[in-house]
Amino acid sequence: MNILIIYAHPEPKSFNGALKDLAVLELTALGHQVKVSDLYAMNFKALADRNDFQLLENENFLKYALEQKHAAKTNLFSPDIKEEQEKLLWADFVIFQFPLWWYSVPAILKGWFDRVFASGFVYSRDNRYDTGRLKGRKAMLSTTTGSPIQAYTPFGMDGDIHEKILYHINHGMLYFAGLEPVEPFIAWTPSHNEEDRKRYLEEYKTRLHNLSKIPSIPYHPTSHYDEHHQLKMEYR
Ligand SMILES: Cc1cc2nc3c(=O)[nH]c(=O)nc-3n(C[C@H](O)[C@H](O)[C@H](O)COP(=O)(O)OP(=O)(O)OC[C@H]3O[C@@H](n4cnc5c(N)ncnc54)[C@H](O)[C@@H]3O)c2cc1C
Repeated sequence: MNILIIYAHPEPKSFNGALKDLAVLELTALGHQVKVSDLYAMNFKALADRNDFQLLENENFLKYALEQKHAAKTNLFSPDIKEEQEKLLWADFVIFQFPLWWYSVPAILKGWFDRVFASGFVYSRDNRYDTGRLKGRKAMLSTTTGSPIQAYTPFGMDGDIHEKILYHINHGMLYFAGLEPVEPFIAWTPSHNEEDRKRYLEEYKTRLHNLSKIPSIPYHPTSHYDEHHQLKMEYR
């Protein structure tokens, strides 16, 4: 498979760095083609603005999503965006490696989504979720936390990790773009204990050896919703 790793951590010697390095090593040894977007090393621009387009359709008023649509049609995104989009089209499987920051992704990765997951490129009015333009590819979140696993259970202090914390990424970004999200890999509180870290690295290695067997997250296709974006009664 062609595997793209989008990696967002400012410290190469971090535990996130170790998980990314392990993935590159193991996946390459298994015969996969691997590319890494190391966003901090690339000094990836996180701010979405008018410089993201080589030619603006409307110079007087920046409507970002409309300019994205125009750039997708004319192939006039800035070179850094184009490069990431080409990597996405090359990939069969995308891994996002990041620490959980403020219940979400670090700003540099959020900026990557804002700029690279462009209107006209990954979605349009009629192409989203199960018909999003990245359809046919899988994606997995690999993240680390500061709070322990108990905090992320349904009655835990931080809220259910799947339904409340990672949903906006898995459903709102990956699935929206047509990717098929698989169950995330989560290393809980890796900064506390060397034994845990060793175990997580072993567990991640096993996971990497079985990428194609990881269950997908069962989200509804758009056909299950009515014209008011409500889930039809028969699917509730
Ligand atoms: C802005 C911000 C917001 C945050 N928001 C949240 C939040 O909303 N929810 C939450 O739960 N947490 C939050 N946190 C905490 C954050 O999620 C954790 O600090 C982070 O996930 C830990 O991962 P790391 O890679 O940064 O760990 P690091 O601290 O870099 O690494 C942990 C330890 O692993 C060691 N290590 C590195 N490589 C290896 C290796 N190969 N083998 C063994 N050990 C190794 C390192 O030396 C270090 O001692 C936040 C932190 C910040 C800075």
